[in-house]
Amino acid sequence: MRRAVVLGASMAGLLAARVLSDHADEVLIIERDGSDVDDGPRPGAPQGSQVHALLPAGQLQLERWYPGFTEAAIAAGAVVPPPDGVRFYVEGVLRTAPPVPPTGQATTLVSTRPFLEAMVRHRTMAIGKIRLVVGRAEGLIFDGDRVTGARYVPEGADEIVTESADLVVDAMGRSSRLGDWLEENGWPRPPMLRMPIKLNYATALFRRDERISDVWVAVSTASADEARGKVARIGGFHVVEGDKWIMLVSGYDDDRPTRDVEDFTRRARAHFPTPFGDIAERAEMIGEVITYHQADSRRRDFHKLDRLPAGLVAAGDAVASFNPVYGQGMTSAALHASCLSAYLRSGPSPDAPARAYFEQVRVVVDAAWQTSTFSDLSLPHVDGPYPPAYKLTKWISDVVFAASMTDAAVNRRLDAVMTMRAHPNTLMRPGTVLRALWLSAVRGVARSRRSEVSPAAG
Ligand SMILES: Cc1cc2nc3c(=O)[nH]c(=O)nc-3n(C[C@H](O)[C@H](O)[C@H](O)COP(=O)(O)OP(=O)(O)OC[C@H]3O[C@@H](n4cnc5c(N)ncnc54)[C@H](O)[C@@H]3O)c2cc1C
Repeated sequence: MRRAVVLGASMAGLLAARVLSDHADEVLIIERDGSDVDDGPRPGAPQGSQVHALLPAGQLQLERWYPGFTEAAIAAGAVVPPPDGVRFYVEGVLRTAPPVPPTGQATTLVSTRPFLEAMVRHRTMAIGKIRLVVGRAEGLIFDGDRVTGARYVPEGADEIVTESADLVVDAMGRSSRLGDWLEENGWPRPPMLRMPIKLNYATALFRRDERISDVWVAVSTASADEARGKVARIGGFHVVEGDKWIMLVSGYDDDRPTRDVEDFTRRARAHFPTPFGDIAERAEMIGEVITYHQADSRRRDFHKLDRLPAGLVAAGDAVASFNPVYGQGMTSAALHASCLSAYLRSGPSPDAPARAYFEQVRVVVDAAWQTSTFSDLSLPHVDGPYPPAYKLTKWISDVVFAASMTDAAVNRRLDAVMTMRAHPNTLMRPGTVLRALWLSAVRGVARSRRSEVSPAAG
């Protein structure tokens, strides 16, 4: 390719540009937000002030596209938590320690989102043939059955500028207007599937103090139980660069954490295990509590389009954006970049629509969607859309999940899925299901023995 144009310079856009630099003489990124990426959260990616976890699969991808990334991130301040400093709580109970990755595999790398994005931005922009202009993308240029460029308004200007391209990448995030642009030019918009989740986040930063807690990373999940008046809540905190903790408390539907510090502290103490309350009450808060609401998980199914122009792809949240509590977004963006690489390496015709790319992306989206929406269907306020064979799959998943609480082998397999290193269908393999069923039967026998013994003992 002579030139590729990428719309959006967040995680998906930067990773796509990195991949395109192997295939095009020139890559131009158009980004509306001219903020300095080293200055923390920026308006163009407002979710940046919230807790962001990079899953190990995402880290492996970053290492692939930017060799030495992990080492450089650690040198710049990213944190690798010690295994004994990590706590996972389910329904308030400490869960079996997560498996320690074998040497040479991705460790968990923790940082704030702006730190990570800045690292990716600097590494991408260090590639000579990639250029970034600040301006708002306003539309595409079409010629017959293909996209031949993009239009944008440079920052501070009124006039629209056009840029020609052999390939345009939409990486404008979940609110991308690509569908409108396609429709305005006589093409169908990709069908969008939404699952309303009504998620409410509140995040705060604290100065780390080992006298208050020696925990580096904690994640606590509690599911809803309407009969007992319990609501679903997820909380988490990590040590991040600069020796700080970043802490999230969340709720669903009308359970909305506010920006009020007292509300944050009360929730941390009342809804989550002890270290949450200890940090929120006793550590020094840096800055303010920042809230975020996400109404839905959504996916745009480009692979279903019967007409699609050549010269156009989409990546990252512009294709699919999930409930963020599962931490899949940045890793999905990185996997989409790998799909783009595989597609371009296959030598596709420049005049044919990128169907093979969207078919690969579909595998990534299906897997992430399956994991996140499946769990979200258990929320009382979420009533679909249900996948086929939902009840049976849910029953099997519940058995596997229960087994993972005590069994290291099942825990390892579940962890591979939750960290996006394995496809969720791997949990449905007979070896895993039979092991989980056997463990469930053993637990059942032990329970009935206990109940036979306890009256006598009492
Ligand atoms: C509260 C919250 C918490 C999250 N936590 C995690 C987590 O723990 N782990 C994880 O992996 N993911 C998490 N995510 C998801 C993650 O933030 C996204 O998946 C990721 O940022 C996707 O990147 P993107 O590049 O596709 O889109 P975005 O980050 O949304 O970026 C879109 C970019 O396009 C630019 N843009 C938009 N319109 C235009 C235009 N017209 N012209 C030019 N530029 C434009 C924007 O300025 C922006 O830079 C979270 C999301 C939220 C909301």
